[in-house]
Amino acid sequence: MSDVFIEKCESYNEEELELSMKKIFESLGDLSFLKNKKILLKPNLLSPKKPEKAVTTNPEFLRAVVKNLKKYTDRIYVGDSSGIGSPDLLYNVTGIKKIIEDENLILADFKNKIKIENPQGKLVKSFEVAKAFADADYIISLPKLKTHAMTYYTGAVKNLFGMIPGGLKPTYHMRFPELGLFTQMLVDLNTAIKPLMSIMDAVIGMEGNGPGNGSPRKIGLIMASYDPVALDSTACRIIGIKPEKIYTNINGVKSGLGVMDSEKIKLPEWFSFDKYSIKDFKKASVKLNMIALPVPKPLTDFVKKTFGRKPQFDHKKCIMCQECVKICPSQPKSLKAENGRIKINRNTCIKCFCCQEMCPVGAIKPSRFVGKS
Ligand code: SF4
Ligand code: SF4
Repeated sequence: MSDVFIEKCESYNEEELELSMKKIFESLGDLSFLKNKKILLKPNLLSPKKPEKAVTTNPEFLRAVVKNLKKYTDRIYVGDSSGIGSPDLLYNVTGIKKIIEDENLILADFKNKIKIENPQGKLVKSFEVAKAFADADYIISLPKLKTHAMTYYTGAVKNLFGMIPGGLKPTYHMRFPELGLFTQMLVDLNTAIKPLMSIMDAVIGMEGNGPGNGSPRKIGLIMASYDPVALDSTACRIIGIKPEKIYTNINGVKSGLGVMDSEKIKLPEWFSFDKYSIKDFKKASVKLNMIALPVPKPLTDFVKKTFGRKPQFDHKKCIMCQECVKICPSQPKSLKAENGRIKINRNTCIKCFCCQEMCPVGAIKPSRFVGKS
């Protein structure tokens, strides 16, 4: 049985957050073992966007976590690796720099990398991760609840992809282009990193064209768990997604990372899905039943070509910054700028949606169906 602790929190108002976060920490049990330990807080800082865009873990949410941890230790590190822009820009725009200064936190080392072995990994037996990992005694993940074009949903399990330094992320997309493999890699990364717990910013989440260009949507909750799969499964149920359709959950259960079955997840007595789930939460632009459909191997390519999603470009919105071309990990690159437009080669595209994640103006969306180009 895994506990998922939930508290109501309607806004990022400091007092309200402080009160709700205090209750979350009280639920988490005796944390005295954290005394004087070095703790790395890993928010989701996908890209340099302002907090109100709901792309990143809110800075005031981070502050509320820090205030509770300071009862145990002052050695608190913060960091993440974004796929776009300089670290300075990232921490400034997302509001994280101000919290680091106000609260005397240490900027974690996401520039250098180290190799870690992962013998228990099903697919990946070693990872190169940010040195910040080695500098910390414990890691606390602070995911943001959002939709995601490739994985459909992003929360606790997916948040740890940020432990891979930015420049290396495309190589993981290339090595594991298929959704099942990519999410197994994420699960393996979780077993390698072993975060102590995840505390999810579900105060304002993101719906629609997530994770970088969807719309902020109030959920009004803070959620925490020592089990990232139980946390993600509960978050999925709240936003109307069947957890058993999400590959990070499916592979997480198979690998023993956590539980998904609602009978194995203990929620607070006051909480009910009837009351707190969001019936009209806008999903990522993809037919969910296409995602976790078991497909016989010989048909995989045909099904992918016929029904798989693909990035679609809104040329009127595009500002030709070419961030999508830079980030595209396929070899050869599937995107190029030609005659003032971005052109895509659908034959080489691996449908990783890195371009969609990184586009600063939301000019790329996953197509609903595939057949037509
Ligand atoms: S599609 Fe987006 S990322 Fe690509 S060039 Fe246009 S604005 Fe930039
Ligand atoms: S075009 Fe976009 S989805 Fe296709 S491989 Fe490049 S980054 Fe990935």
